[in-house]
Amino acid sequence: MNYIDPHIHMVSRTTDDYQRMAYAGCAAVSEPAFWAGFDRGTAAAFHDYFRQLTDAEPKRAALFGVRHYCWLCINAKEAENVTLSREVIRLIPEFLKLPNVLGIGEIGLNKNTPNEATVFQEHLDLAARTNELVLIHTPHLADKYKGTRMILDMLANDKRVQPHRVCVDHVEEHTIRPALDAGFWVGMTLYPTTKCTPARAADLIETYGPERILANSAGDWGKSDPLAVPELMQELKRRGHPEALVRRVVYENPLQFWRQSNNWRE
Ligand SMILES: [Zn+2]
Repeated sequence: MNYIDPHIHMVSRTTDDYQRMAYAGCAAVSEPAFWAGFDRGTAAAFHDYFRQLTDAEPKRAALFGVRHYCWLCINAKEAENVTLSREVIRLIPEFLKLPNVLGIGEIGLNKNTPNEATVFQEHLDLAARTNELVLIHTPHLADKYKGTRMILDMLANDKRVQPHRVCVDHVEEHTIRPALDAGFWVGMTLYPTTKCTPARAADLIETYGPERILANSAGDWGKSDPLAVPELMQELKRRGHPEALVRRVVYENPLQFWRQSNNWRE
């Protein structure tokens, strides 16, 4: 069965990972712009990163028969520098018409600071003015519940936000319900230890049903598993769920969300 990984940072992964993902049935990935493991010093560094996401990485993925899409922004961690963030936000529009760009992301909060909130809202403004989809990173561990609440409040306060065009990512047991209830898509990140394990993600699907739920590996330069989505597929099959349900979560749902993108051509 083919699958899609809607959140993975392929610039940090090797070609061997692409090969193994292709063997496992990966048809497409989407790569949100994120922190590189170090703070970049200039807007020019982000300009190069956006070229990598929109030009170089799709070509590398194509060598393995994997379609590569991406999201553009300055991530929440580097958003602490508001001056730099505004320079980077001004760079984004020139890239939005490129064919593999799905929208603005992964924007969000990291430590739930006022500067992060300012830059988050300025990204939301850009998305509203350009009618782009939005992908949202929610904070880790201890900061997650408060940060998710802050994000949902900021989304509710911007009356231009259309919930079916926004995905709230990295949800867990204590944050999935408010995001789904507000009409947003949600992403479950399958990490070996923190965030959702495949078993916890399967529990969430059994509790809330498959509607507006995505599953991703969020594979990056840290400890993570680019084959986490196939592992969830195995877990769902092991529990006796029909193929149609598995396919809905790992293939049809991401496509349904992406098809709303301005650049979608199929
Ligand atoms: Zn990410």
